[in-house]
Amino acid sequence: MKIRQLFDQETWTYTYVVYDEATKEAAIIDSVKEKFERDKRYVRELGLTLKYALETHVHADHVTGAGLLRQEFGCQVAVHKDGCATCADVQVVDGTEFRLGKQIIRAMHTPGHTNGDVSYVVDGAVFTGDALLIRACGRTDFQQGSSSRLYDSIHSKLFALPDDTVVYPGHDYEGFTASTIGEEKRLNPRLGDSKPKPDFMHIMDTMNLPRPRKIDVAVPGNLACGMN
Ligand code: FE
Repeated sequence: MKIRQLFDQETWTYTYVVYDEATKEAAIIDSVKEKFERDKRYVRELGLTLKYALETHVHADHVTGAGLLRQEFGCQVAVHKDGCATCADVQVVDGTEFRLGKQIIRAMHTPGHTNGDVSYVVDGAVFTGDALLIRACGRTDFQQGSSSRLYDSIHSKLFALPDDTVVYPGHDYEGFTASTIGEEKRLNPRLGDSKPKPDFMHIMDTMNLPRPRKIDVAVPGNLACGMN
């Protein structure tokens, strides 16, 4: 499986294009509406057949390009069912599979940042959205987030993947691009080294972060796949 990491400098969002080399069937993970023209051009240049626009969750910081990509390429938009995005073609649940040629992308429900977070696993890699970030994790204080659920998602599901699984996050604010499950198990300051759950919950529940700037536009926008 080929993996290409793209970046939106306005919202620090990573978008991923993954494709099967043999058939050129492709999926895009967490597209950004403002980057639609770039992504359209990229898909065309590589000669890909875009089958899926996968969302890791209903984002609060940017609006997805999934609806525009569906209009352009006829791909299916996939969002976890608990995200309640009625615009989606696929209401994802734990274990939902997406096929690209002979390769399978498997969805893992990893709630906690929001109630409807999904990590996508394929070919030795995992796209963790905002559940697990490099040396960090997504906040848990809105959109039915829960520090307790996030701890359980990361420890029971993400940390159960092989240590050499490459972690591709939804954002990074320091310029890191990828990590591994083994690296985060050892080095993530909130979650690594078997940090006890109450300690993690205390960190997350006392962060007092400002409200995301675009949340009032982004959430309704994403519930409409970016087409409202
Ligand atoms: Fe998020």
